Amino acid sequence: MTRTAVVIGGGIAGMCAAKVLVDHYEKVVLLERDTYPDGAGGRRGVPQSKMFHTLLERGRREIEDIFPGFHKLLDERKMPKVSFGFNCALMTPRGWGRNLPVPVTRSLFCTRAMLESTIRDLFLKDPGIELIEQAVVNNLLVEEISPREVVSGVTYKRRGDSEVHTLHAELVVDASGFSSKASLWLKEAGIIPPAEHELDPLLTYGGQLYKMKKGARFPKSWWWTHGAFIQRVPPLDNVAAHLIRQEADLWLLTLVAGDGHEIPKDEAGVREFLGRMRSPLIYDMLPYFEPLDEVSTYRLPKNRWKYYERWNESPVGFIAMAAATCVFNPNMGQGMSVAAGDAGILKKCLQTTSSPYELPGLFFKRQADFQKNAYQLACCNDLKFDTVVGPRTLGTRLFNWYNEQITAAGAADPWVARESGLINLLIEPISYSYRPWFIARLLFARLFLWWRAASADERVGPIPPGPAEIPTRVRSVVRNWVGVAFRFTRIRLGLAR
Ligand SMILES: Cc1cc2nc3c(=O)[nH]c(=O)nc-3n(C[C@H](O)[C@H](O)[C@H](O)COP(=O)(O)OP(=O)(O)OC[C@H]3O[C@@H](n4cnc5c(N)ncnc54)[C@H](O)[C@@H]3O)c2cc1C
Repeated sequence: MTRTAVVIGGGIAGMCAAKVLVDHYEKVVLLERDTYPDGAGGRRGVPQSKMFHTLLERGRREIEDIFPGFHKLLDERKMPKVSFGFNCALMTPRGWGRNLPVPVTRSLFCTRAMLESTIRDLFLKDPGIELIEQAVVNNLLVEEISPREVVSGVTYKRRGDSEVHTLHAELVVDASGFSSKASLWLKEAGIIPPAEHELDPLLTYGGQLYKMKKGARFPKSWWWTHGAFIQRVPPLDNVAAHLIRQEADLWLLTLVAGDGHEIPKDEAGVREFLGRMRSPLIYDMLPYFEPLDEVSTYRLPKNRWKYYERWNESPVGFIAMAAATCVFNPNMGQGMSVAAGDAGILKKCLQTTSSPYELPGLFFKRQADFQKNAYQLACCNDLKFDTVVGPRTLGTRLFNWYNEQITAAGAADPWVARESGLINLLIEPISYSYRPWFIARLLFARLFLWWRAASADERVGPIPPGPAEIPTRVRSVVRNWVGVAFRFTRIRLGLAR
């Protein structure tokens, strides 16, 4: 029999996984319930795609590794370069983020539709992957081959067609997102599905596209030319908003409402919502724009962890990944990076084994080690808000307290801010912040740089401080070097002697 792998779902996780599997299976089939749109269009299967999405550095690196040329293609498609503190104002719970004299790009900002369509354009170039669109998977094929059950394929229907198709495979990968039906299918086959943990963040998102009015220009003093972010402040202030530049001169307004708040649907309601924020920045920006569509709303699903890594009943030939195994509040923008990171883990596991008996155990363990960072950050942050119902264990409270110390130290010491940022970008695990030299630097910043932290705490006014200046000394050194280079070039071109 041909060695076949089947992937359920063609979102970011599914496309990355299929591409990784091509090097190890004779045939790779991806089943997607939608028809992909032409270009950067939305689709029914990914309802969250109308909402704001940013891709963290970890996700960018993983996707670039699987689809070389990804970042270059995004640049060619004129993805804007957003940099917090340089051209985008960020109001954190502690006040305005540090201003930067030069841009530092740690995440990519464009619409989710554009991100996905760029990956898709590279994915569709691979002749080794068979894509079947309009294919809704409705069950797993499970055989009892003692001592363990074996998943030997899937059944699916084409949309609008009642015929059930069967597809046999040595490996089935569930990448069907947060609406995955795998637990149900496993139960139907007599297999106890993995246990689950849930926590409801009680959040609703609203999103609306804007473009600048013809001839409109921000005042010169507004250095936040690429947008503004106002975050929630635990434990009580659970509304947030951001207005961010996207590709093709589009701007995306996002409103976030915690329990007890509604996302407004009309223009007056949007203005009122923004007028109540800690800073009037976005309220003041809005008159420069006109809406391109209606406000779309999205009630976040619960944070959910499926304990695949402890699953004794794990059948042969079945793995699940990304949002099909772990869903969390997108507050920190980690979901797509987790999806791509999981595919990177699959790639590494396949270099060790592609045996359907060994691969699931190895993959689930490594995947859990990676995903638990994003899940812990998201759930512990949600539990800071009074409205969220869940156990505040000693571990959770200690974790949140330690993170507060890191944030406070980061306000005083750029080293701490940069290194702890690596954890939020998913480049390093949470345990990175427990290393002795990290703790030593944290203590140093808390004990000896308190005067700098105090000045950071003062950045809490409604309007961000003016743009950061490059120190005069650095400016004159750069200017001198540019002068020398200019003169050297003129001499080489024969224009000066
Ligand atoms: C409001 C909101 C904002 C977010 N913001 C961010 C952000 O800023 N940054 C970030 O990184 N993440 C963000 N996320 C999270 C991100 O959207 C998800 O984590 C990510 O899309 C998960 O990828 P996935 O491939 O696992 O699932 P999905 O992207 O959901 O893809 C699943 C695919 O499976 C298909 N499918 C489902 N069932 C079947 C079936 N039975 N048969 C065939 N096909 C099927 C679907 O059509 C879809 O194509 C946000 C999420 C929300 C809700």
